[in-house]
Amino acid sequence: MSYRELERRYGFEVYTKRDVTLVRGEGATVWDDMGREYIDCAAGIGVASVGHANGKVAAAIAAQADTLITCPGSFYNDVRARFLEKLIGIAPKGLSRAFLCNSGTESIEAAIKFARFTTGRTDFVSCMRGFHGRTLGSLSATFKKEYREPFAPVVPGFSYVPFNDLEKMAAAVTDRTAAVIVELVQGEGGIRVADAEFVRKLRGLCDERGVLLIVDEVQTGFCRTGRMFACEHFALVPDIMCLAKAMAGGMPIGATLCSERVRAPVGRHGTTFGGNPLACAAALAAIGFMEEQALWEQAAEKGDYFVRRLAPSLTGTVREIRHLGLMIGIELKEKATPYLAALLDRGVIALSAGPTVIRLLPPLVISYEQLDAVARLLADVMRAGAARSATASEEIPR
Ligand code: PLP
Repeated sequence: MSYRELERRYGFEVYTKRDVTLVRGEGATVWDDMGREYIDCAAGIGVASVGHANGKVAAAIAAQADTLITCPGSFYNDVRARFLEKLIGIAPKGLSRAFLCNSGTESIEAAIKFARFTTGRTDFVSCMRGFHGRTLGSLSATFKKEYREPFAPVVPGFSYVPFNDLEKMAAAVTDRTAAVIVELVQGEGGIRVADAEFVRKLRGLCDERGVLLIVDEVQTGFCRTGRMFACEHFALVPDIMCLAKAMAGGMPIGATLCSERVRAPVGRHGTTFGGNPLACAAALAAIGFMEEQALWEQAAEKGDYFVRRLAPSLTGTVREIRHLGLMIGIELKEKATPYLAALLDRGVIALSAGPTVIRLLPPLVISYEQLDAVARLLADVMRAGAARSATASEEIPR
């Protein structure tokens, strides 16, 4: 059986699959099992920021695998200790401790539990179009009802307000609200950047009402937006910051960073794999690489360069291009899926973010040559799409 058939036969399918079997990567390039090359503008959904097969990360994983892979949280560990010191060292000042876990959704679950315990309140407010994960707590904070409804009832006490609407936020926050949960650039929700004024006033609102502010930097964190963390664009210090994805160069990891105000009861929350030395060694290497290469600067420059290259060549199919660093959304006036398929045919892997947005999250080490190629191929598929819709509209009698 082919790899595809094996996955189809034995995998419990919850994904809509694309018809490609990826077997190898290097930098921003990946290869399929037939040896075909692709420019990877998905990066494992915003994970491989330091590039696929990053030498530093690979060497750190190999050395740690040879030394100690697992060590429970109930024991101290040398690598975990060094990683925690590094993580808090680069975090916005005011975030002074980190709970380590294995994914974005787990980092949000911990944030929800810590916020309830700290405040003694039960409720949460998040934003429309927000995405925070798929386990029941984080799913409850996630707006899209298609994700929540098949698994109802989700956790009670969650409400949603329009993104960037402080008035609606102020009305939704009550004396039962433990925390507000927001992304500073909505990723799955279509690459929508928060207004600076909204963020500033939201911090004030949370302080006034004794509500914790949880910022979900799972997708924006670790240089993607042109800063180490998106919080830095807003000079924002949240009470809790959730991280995952790019932190360990592709190894599963998550972290919930907390201010001194946030508390959790000892012995009442934990994880088997969280803070394992293998992931911590990978994260130390990945963050070391980000710092050496000033990867945030690369993301900022390359994002601006790409959008400058792309914008003039786009057709009337495009409604808007939004970006912060190398977190790029191209909103179309029609469905994005056919364009993603056309890009894949031309050797570019891209993502969607909602029905009409093409989302690009390439490795931050992507070359300018590759960015030029992606811009050119995007313009090609847009032109072909525009030609197709022109023909289609001619065919349909009005
Ligand atoms: N939060 C945000 C902003 C995300 O983009 C994601 C995943 O895409 C998550 C949380 C959930 O992370 P994970 O898939 O690692 O559970």
